Amino acid sequence: MTDDVQAARIAELIKPLRVKPGSRVKLPDDFDPRYKYDGLKKKDSARLLRTGIRMLSDYQSRLAAQDTYGVLVCLQALDAGGKDGTIRHVMSGVNPQGVHVSSFKVPSAEELDHDYLWRYAERLPARGDIAIFNRSHYEEVLVVRVHPENLDREKLPAECKGKDVWERRYREINNWERYLSDNGFKIVKLFLNLSKEEQRVRFLKRIDLPEKNWKFSAADAREREHWDEYQKAFSQMLSATSTPWAPWYVIPADRKWFARVCAAAVIAAALIDIDPQYPATTKQTRRELLEVKKELEAQAPKGAAADPFSEHDKRALLLTRGRPACSARAARRFRTVSRYHRSHAVRCRGRHRGGAAGPVGGHVGGGAGAGRPYRPVRNRLH
Ligand code: AMP
Ligand code: MG
Repeated sequence: MTDDVQAARIAELIKPLRVKPGSRVKLPDDFDPRYKYDGLKKKDSARLLRTGIRMLSDYQSRLAAQDTYGVLVCLQALDAGGKDGTIRHVMSGVNPQGVHVSSFKVPSAEELDHDYLWRYAERLPARGDIAIFNRSHYEEVLVVRVHPENLDREKLPAECKGKDVWERRYREINNWERYLSDNGFKIVKLFLNLSKEEQRVRFLKRIDLPEKNWKFSAADAREREHWDEYQKAFSQMLSATSTPWAPWYVIPADRKWFARVCAAAVIAAALIDIDPQYPATTKQTRRELLEVKKELEAQAPKGAAADPFSEHDKRALLLTRGRPACSARAARRFRTVSRYHRSHAVRCRGRHRGGAAGPVGGHVGGGAGAGRPYRPVRNRLH
């Protein structure tokens, strides 16, 4: 499957989940928490998710290397919607150095002393990073709306607390997100859409399993009394803040395995859209690398390959009396590099054999297209 086909499949997978900007959403009618794709089985999901995770990992290293764009993932859900599990599973393959997770709870006294977006702005991603908001600025039009006493605690001047406060917040949030997106920060918004019955079952599990007790409080169960108000607040939020620059995706959350596949797909689609690239190596850098290469080759101990990754030394490395002339670890690494070069060469059809340094050890062999930007082979969904 080519990259384009794969990107098209992901786009197709997430299309029904997208809230069309300008549309009016009414929950629970418009999005079924138990929805899944025909033909997709739970037993296939682990493989699919693994592939998605590998993709995210590859894209994240390119995002970090390019250091131009940042990604903000906002996760919203009612209690037991699966936010923590989604983060744990979906981001399990990425380099923790480039990912920051922030959870937002009841605001502190210091946070209440600032404008309502302040604490979220403090946790925005840097360029090259992915920031995940476990709950986000959207709590400001959800829990704060359902429980207006939260608004009283926010110490707003009287003239800022009128009836139009929610419409104003939607507008301010949209403008803030537009500003971020205009400046290279992509915003991915996921609403894990759980049914009331599935929440009841998950709460019971949290009570019945001692190791899950910590996740549950009686207040969570009491909050179910406000279920309909939350559905209304979510509906209005989705309708008002799904924008062309930061659309909402409603993830059917009753099946955890399906929710995780969908979440990975939406984040992958955002990264495919950015299409970050490893920076191109300049001719000057290339020359310097080749100089260093010569020096390193000259330092090879007796009997060791001068450069185990070069085409010339490959045979020597693997065929020395039927056993590798290097450690098993180095041989494994070498095989990974070879595999990468083989697939890379096929993809590029000789356009730039050789290529610039890749993510797996770096190939400094020179060649026709040395110094061109590196475009790795994307992983496959199947
Ligand atoms: P949890 O995510 O389960 O640890 O709970 C965090 C709690 O903080 C939830 O009950 C949220 O509703 C609450 N919370 C998050 N953001 C805000 C906010 N801006 N104002 C008031 N409560 C909030
Ligand atoms: Mg909770």
